[in-house]
Amino acid sequence: MESPQATLLAHAPGPDALPMDRARRLLRNVYGYSGFRAGQEAVVQTAFEGRDALVLMPTGGGKSLCYQLPAIAAEGVGIVVSPLIALMQDQVSALRQLGVKAAFLNSTLDYWEQQEIHAALGQDQLDLVYLAPERLLQAETLEFLRTVKVALIAIDEAHCVSQWGHDFRQDYLGLNVLAEAFPGIPRMALTATADERTRAEIVARLALRRPAAFIHGFDRPNIRYTVQAKNRAGGQLAGFLEDHRGEAGIVYCLSRRKVESTAEALREAGHDALPYHAGLPGHVRAANQARFLREDGVVVVATIAFGMGIDKPDVRFVAHVDLPKSIEAYYQETGRAGRDGAAAEAWMIYGLQDVVRLRQMLDESEAGEDQKRIERAKLDKLLAWCEVTACRRAALLAHFGEDYPTPCGNCDICLNPPRTWDGTVAAQKLLSCIVRTDQRFGAAHVIDVLRGKETAKIEQHRHAALSTYGIGEDLTDGQWRSVLRQLLVQGYVRSDAHRYGALVLEPAARPLLRGEVTLELREEVRTPKPERARKARPGDAEVAASDQPLWEAMRALRKQLADAAGLPPYVVFHDATLKALIQAKPKTHAEMLALHGVGKAKLERYGDAFLALLANTEASTPDQS
Ligand code: ADP
Ligand code: ZN
Repeated sequence: MESPQATLLAHAPGPDALPMDRARRLLRNVYGYSGFRAGQEAVVQTAFEGRDALVLMPTGGGKSLCYQLPAIAAEGVGIVVSPLIALMQDQVSALRQLGVKAAFLNSTLDYWEQQEIHAALGQDQLDLVYLAPERLLQAETLEFLRTVKVALIAIDEAHCVSQWGHDFRQDYLGLNVLAEAFPGIPRMALTATADERTRAEIVARLALRRPAAFIHGFDRPNIRYTVQAKNRAGGQLAGFLEDHRGEAGIVYCLSRRKVESTAEALREAGHDALPYHAGLPGHVRAANQARFLREDGVVVVATIAFGMGIDKPDVRFVAHVDLPKSIEAYYQETGRAGRDGAAAEAWMIYGLQDVVRLRQMLDESEAGEDQKRIERAKLDKLLAWCEVTACRRAALLAHFGEDYPTPCGNCDICLNPPRTWDGTVAAQKLLSCIVRTDQRFGAAHVIDVLRGKETAKIEQHRHAALSTYGIGEDLTDGQWRSVLRQLLVQGYVRSDAHRYGALVLEPAARPLLRGEVTLELREEVRTPKPERARKARPGDAEVAASDQPLWEAMRALRKQLADAAGLPPYVVFHDATLKALIQAKPKTHAEMLALHGVGKAKLERYGDAFLALLANTEASTPDQS
């Protein structure tokens, strides 16, 4: 069998110019993209050179193209190892829409369908074939593929080979046999999550040969990060969603019950919202997920059971109304927004109760002490990140060991810098009040005492007689909760799970009480309105009000075409392409082909329908010039 580099490098001495030229042409003609994204070109080049590669790019960075393009350009088929059968189908349909000869081999196919694909492979008629690792590693499959001309092997979600990671898959461990089974064929391992240790593990366990490493940062510039103090969760979420009507998004909640009630409330407010959690029957979950993937503007309200393998590019927002477990979890969950590169939001609210409850859940969990310590540290890091007073993106990236030149201009802190105030006296009042009430009460009662309220509990415990009774009338309940939350997060106070969440002083509280140190606290942002002004932001292209009817008509046409083909709408065209169509209003095939996301196959399939729609609208709109 001739190795691909032999065919590809036959063009020497003008070494790689020719395959790269071909790749650039394919980028335009097949995908309709005007250029490579950061990093893609170098990876493609490496594949042409026949070298192994390790590719680390954030979600939405454009990993697929890195192996698809060389596989299409080269002779022979690209073998793609992918963990989820459910995803293969969508990937293959999307490729076929582009006119790429792609197929998958898995258990959903019947005997004859398989024979057909084997025949196509035997005659070198496929550009790409997708398989799950367990399928690829079957003796017959390997035996057969060794008789086929293979251009490259891509191993997607390569971090699944790591036993320490969160997505370990036993079958990935067997993939090292590919090194011997396909000598000389370049292999490419791709992932969006891999710290240094996992990276080394990937290289070792997959037996990559001196791979070129392409490590791209974790930054997702088109995602805007916002974290707000929780006061009226329902109202805050409703307000946030008001700006995102008709857009697809995910709302994460901690409990199944809250998923149900939130989904209900959103439906009442006129959103197309569906619940998703592990307690729902399988068919309901599947149906809700399918609607999210296949329709425009569906909001899924979910526990963390939702999301694995959600490859929908046009998720416009991910909202957390409860805290995730860790920064890693937060990054992964919010990473599902904005894969298409258009503006997207990661929005979260959290409050005093969340801090108390999550810590309590950890204390009460069945896990061993070591495990608990790790989980606590993770939660504490997340909480500290929630309270940052400098660029949130920079702090997020710093967690992954990355330097980011601040300010980013696209996070809540950069857009609306929080003020800080000297909270020393307030903290002393609160700490003394906890001490005076014998460290036996939770937040609500302590704040009632501070504010000098008359409650049954205060009467029962004669707390009106305390020296701290009523010394906190200068601040509102909300402000006290903010002070206490920050004291909890910063480790001056903890809430004791074994005593019903009673507030207890930590050693750090002593010097503060004695006035030996001072404390800067963050002022809560009251009515954050930075985004209402709709500053231009990365990936943003707004539809002008006058074009709204056209935008709606385009979306309807896309849905109709997608339904007819049994595909999700974004497989027909991404939002960005619809917006480009509205902006450019092309009249001819050639004009349309120049737009982002329009390749030859899609032009042929859908060009006339969209051009006709544009022509009709043009004709029916009175000329206003
Ligand atoms: P990943 O697998 O890294 O999460 P994908 O490969 O799914 O990302 O790509 C994310 C999105 O970016 C896709 O919608 C894809 O069409 C788009 N994309 C990829 N490369 C380019 C490019 N060079 N120009 C424009 N869009 C691109
Ligand atoms: Zn910032």
